[in-house]
Amino acid sequence: MGRLFIESVPTTTTRIYKCKYCKVDLASYDELESKEFQGRYGKAYLFKTVVNLSVGPVEDRELSSGLHKISDIYCTSCQQILGWKYAVWTLENLSFVVL
Ligand SMILES: [Zn+2]
Repeated sequence: MGRLFIESVPTTTTRIYKCKYCKVDLASYDELESKEFQGRYGKAYLFKTVVNLSVGPVEDRELSSGLHKISDIYCTSCQQILGWKYAVWTLENLSFVVL
């Protein structure tokens, strides 16, 4: 196994979203774009930037908004699946979703 690099979210932000499994930093409140998403397992948040992620292979997946190319995202620290991100970057979907 390679070395594990964990990035910290700047502490100047008031609220930090963390991995629900291992509590490593994922994103600051400032990076939260929307809470209006629905994931496979319930409510999902859309972020502009998320740290400490590894990205799975690209696949076509049917979402409520249609067919999209997306990749599952995993916590770098504990390898648990956190959600997914759009693989095709446009102005409308420039973000990550973390469950
Ligand atoms: Zn984790």
